[in-house]
Parts: sequence; C-alpha cells; structure tokens
Amino acid sequence: MALIVQKYGGTSVGSVERIQSVAQRVVKTAQAGNGLVVVVSAMGKTTDGLVKLAHEISTSPNRREMDMLLSTGEQQSIALLSMAIQELGQPAISMTGAQVGIVTEAEHTRARILSIETDRLQRHLQDGRVVVVAGFQGISSLIDLEITTLGRGGSDTSAVALAAALQADCCEIYTDVPGILTTDPRLVPDAQLMSEITSDEMLELASLGAKVLHPRAVEIARNYGVTLVVRSSWTEDPGTKVVSPIPQPRPLEGLEIAQPVDAVEFDTDQAKVALLRVPDRPGIAARLFGEIATQDLDVDLIIQSIHEGNSNDIAFTVTQNSLNRAEAVAAAIAPALRNQIDPLAGEAEVMVDRRMAKVSIVGAGMIGRPGVAAQMFSTLAEAGVNIEMISTSEVQVSCAIDQDDCDRAIAALCQAFNVTRSPAKSIGGHRWQQADQLAPPVRGAALDLKQARLAIRHVPDRPGLASRIFSLLADRNISVDMIIQSQRCRLVNGIATRDIAFTVAALDADEAQAILQAAAPELGYGEIMVDRSIAKVSIVGTGMVGRPGVAARMFEALSKEQINIQMIATSEIKVSCLVAETEGTRALQVIHAAFELSGNERIVVPA
Ligand code: ADP
Ligand code: ASP
Ligand code: MG
Repeated sequence: MALIVQKYGGTSVGSVERIQSVAQRVVKTAQAGNGLVVVVSAMGKTTDGLVKLAHEISTSPNRREMDMLLSTGEQQSIALLSMAIQELGQPAISMTGAQVGIVTEAEHTRARILSIETDRLQRHLQDGRVVVVAGFQGISSLIDLEITTLGRGGSDTSAVALAAALQADCCEIYTDVPGILTTDPRLVPDAQLMSEITSDEMLELASLGAKVLHPRAVEIARNYGVTLVVRSSWTEDPGTKVVSPIPQPRPLEGLEIAQPVDAVEFDTDQAKVALLRVPDRPGIAARLFGEIATQDLDVDLIIQSIHEGNSNDIAFTVTQNSLNRAEAVAAAIAPALRNQIDPLAGEAEVMVDRRMAKVSIVGAGMIGRPGVAAQMFSTLAEAGVNIEMISTSEVQVSCAIDQDDCDRAIAALCQAFNVTRSPAKSIGGHRWQQADQLAPPVRGAALDLKQARLAIRHVPDRPGLASRIFSLLADRNISVDMIIQSQRCRLVNGIATRDIAFTVAALDADEAQAILQAAAPELGYGEIMVDRSIAKVSIVGTGMVGRPGVAARMFEALSKEQINIQMIATSEIKVSCLVAETEGTRALQVIHAAFELSGNERIVVPA
C-alpha cells in the first residue's frame, strides 16, 4: 500500500460537478489500496473574492483578520469534498490546518511551516479514511491557536509539506493544465508539456512568474526528496515530474526554516567587461552579445543598469582567457554607438577588470527570505570586500568581487553561514556542468507582471551601503530581485556615487519606497524612483551553462520586435529582462518562439 498526497487547486474544485469528479478520482485511488491525504484549495476564485471584500472595508486590512477571513475558503471546500467522497461510499473526514496541527510562524498572511503533527492523520488513515486537509492554512502554535495562512498559492506548499512529514511515496498536484509547460498557455497557447523538469529549474520558473507551482512547495520537495508530479484534473495523463537530487537527511522540525545556505562556492577565473554610456534603444544588447556569441565566448553574469538620462551601462563577466577577445568585441562596437547618442551624454566607453572572482551562497532555503542575501552583503562589507556586481536567483546569490579579496570573502561567508567551502567548484568549474549537457539550453520562459522597479539615485560609493539598504528591506520581509548598481560613478557634491536599481513585488513597492525614503537623510542618497509599469520576462534552463549565445538569442528576439530592454540580470540558469508592461506578453511570445519551445498541440485552459 502506497501513501499518496493529492492536491486539487481552485479550478479543479470550482463547482459541485468538479468536486464530484475529484471525489471519483480520490475514491478510485483509495480503493486501489492506497492511503490517501487530499489537500484542497478554495473553490474557484473564492480567495480573490474574499480579498476584494476586505479591501472594500479597509485599504490595509489587519493581517490577523485577513487570515481569519481567507482561511474560510478552504474550509468550505474540504467539507464539500468530504461529503462527495462519502456519497461514493468511501469513508472520509475533513480537517483544518489547526486540527491537523500544521504549526507555522506567527507571521500572518505569509507564515512558513515549522512542523506538522502526524498522529491524528495517521490514526484516521489507519482507520481507512481519506483525510481531506485544508490547504494554505496553519496555526501559529499549539497553545495560541492563531490561524495563519502561507501566502497566495500556498496550498501547493501545504501538500508537499504534508508529503514530507508523512514520508509519503508521492505528492500529486492536480490542476487545470496538463502539467508544467514551457510557459503559461494562457499567454502562449502553443506552449508545450514537459515530461520532466529539475527542481532547480522549476524553482526559478515558479519565482519568475509561473504560478503552476508555489516556489516554496518546490523548495520543500527538493530539500526532503519528495516525489512531486503535476497533472491535469481532467485526464489520466502522467503530467510532469519534478526531479530532485537525493538530499542530505534533514530534520522535519523547522521544516520551512531549516538552514538557508548549504554551501559557499567560488570561481576565481572571472574578468569583467563594461560598456558604458550606450544608447537606450532596442538592439544594443542583441548586437553586443550576438558578436560575443559568434566568437564562441561564454558569458557568465550580465547586468544592464537603468538608464541615466538616455544612456545605459552593460557589464558582463567572462573567463580570464576570453577577456582579450571580449574586450575587442566591445571596443569594436563602441565607436558605432558614439555618434548616435546625444552628444551631451558623453561617449560610449569600454572598461575592463582583469582579475575578478565570484563568490556565491547556495541553498534552497533562501526563498522568500531576503535577510539571507542581506546577511551576505553585510558579511562582505564587514570583511572590507567591495561588491562589484550582484546576481540573485532563487537558490543562489553571487557577488563579483576583486580576486585579491576572494579568500577573505570565502572565510567570512563560511563563518557567517556555518558551512564549509564547496569543493565542487574550485577553479572555474560550475556545479551544473556535468549533469546537464543533455538538457536543452532553455527549458521554459516566464512573465511576471506583478513587479515594480525601484531606483535609488546617487548612493555614496562606500562599502556597506548596499548592505544597509537591503537589510532595511529584509527587516520588513521585502524580497528583492535583479539588483543592479550602475558601473559608472558620478560625483555629487564631491562624493562618488552610483545608482542602485532592483525589482520588488508590486505589492511591496510603496512600503519599500517609504522605508528607503525615511533612511535617506541618514544614508545620504538621493531620490527614490518607482516604476510600476514594467514586466519581467525570463528564460530558465540548466542547459544554458557553458553554452555561448543563449542570452544573445533572447536579446535578438526582443530587438527584432523593437522591444526595448530596460534592465538585464542573469544568474547561472536564468536570464531576465525588464521591458515595458505593455510589451510583456509580446516579449514572452517572441522569446518562446525564438527558442523553439512550441509544441504542435494547442493547450486550452478550462475557464
Ligand atoms: P491551481 O488553482 O490548480 O493551483 P493555478 O492557477 O495556481 O492553479 O496554477 C495553474 C495555472 O498556472 C495555469 O492555469 C496556467 O495559466 C499558469 N501557468 C503559468 N506558467 C505555467 C507553466 N509554465 N506551466 C503550466 N501552467 C502555467
Ligand atoms: N486559496 C489560496 C489562494 O487562492 C491558496 C491556493 O489556492 O493555493 O491563494
Ligand atoms: Mg496554485
């Protein structure tokens, strides 16, 4: 007898008929002799409706009351599904998060799971009942019994956490699409189903806007080695398997807040090329990286900063023995950009840095915990290490630094995060390189329309300032992405300054702006600018590591459509571009096509 956790999303239980059809699948699985825990979301758009009601009463509803309200959606659907299962002659019982004993942090509306009591569940299972558990909710402690919720989309996380706690054989996520697709089929109808995806790739896609899985659910599956499958509620097709490496054993106590960082990695074979003051119009990045790709040079980090006036800076890193050729490409392009820009803006210029290193912290436990990146920045600042470039992903934060600082940086980080330096990546080697030569360069693409861009003008160029800024945001639990500091220094009142830009969830933008504004007098920077009309398009794939030309192909696709790239940020397995909000969907479509991700079948998503 296998123990299976099945989760059904809102659309899958959106009507009486759909609840009855879910009940049929549940009964079939149970009667095949399996132990079964079923997690359900609220029916259809119930949670959205409740959020709307709350906002009709208050512009910023009390977070405790919000949890009290939102948790009711799932309470309806567990009761109805239990009834439907019972109607088919199968014993079943519904349980709220509190009744199960899903204990979370006391952080209302975004709680993380700390532990799950399994005794009661086990007793019901042993008595032959299907247990139907409310997703998305928990309680703050077994004494306080405060109802908490896990954040929107959190039922996936409930399901995978239950599977980990029960050591279930499998966790099946049933939803309204056939599985995980190359992109959102609502935006690109010829998106294609994947039979498998690695948990690293799925973590990135999920956090870059693919809401088919909650990123924290993927994190738990990866940490505990849960067998995870995403399938359609309407068919018997096998769906998509999310593949995780065999994990180190971990305690179940502190489930979602286990050690955030597993390793400190480094790469001392890096050099930086920066192309300064390039015009802010479509096609520049495409041209630069297109040339780089024809030279077969593999680019690692790429950043493009916000435009100051009407010009951008683009910086990228390559291995040291590629530097001369990369520099030559940039130098050949620079003159062509000269006369096209406003003469007052200055001339395009190439700057190189021969001896760079990259240090990274790695671990799936840093998702949604902005304090971890902030701690990295402050650790480096305290060790007197200046950060030249930052690249963030869901499972990694990397900083490009001076090579002479590398040993000091590694020692400080290992101590701060209580890990040993990783032997996997000594000089130049990527931890992905061996595993994924067979993978396609790009596995999937995602669009995130729920982001805003913040830019801080004229931040004094002193070590430790970036760390202060991101700690302020982390203290309020605001996650940032695409952190970019301008390559150029500008003198303001005799002090060298740089601009820093980054993206946050649109919902956090006002708060982030207010926090930063309040600290401006103390930290000495200028204006804080917020742009909400942006979209982030991203490509993800472990196969892009060590394959030149992937980023160039993305930039070229956007350039052909005359879509201007406002900001670029990469990590090892993703490239993200910020574009105007109005161009987001078209950008996703052309990128999806450029990587030939389309299938022959059109995916129709039921209403
Ligand atoms: P559920 O209610 O079942 O949790 P969600 O609406 O949260 O369902 O997630 C499923 C939706 O995710 C799909 O209907 C689809 O529009 C969207 N989606 C976005 N990106 C992807 C992707 N790469 N693969 C599949 N679905 C995706
Ligand atoms: N009902 C919750 C939401 O809509 C949780 C979920 O569906 O996963 O966000
Ligand atoms: Mg969902």
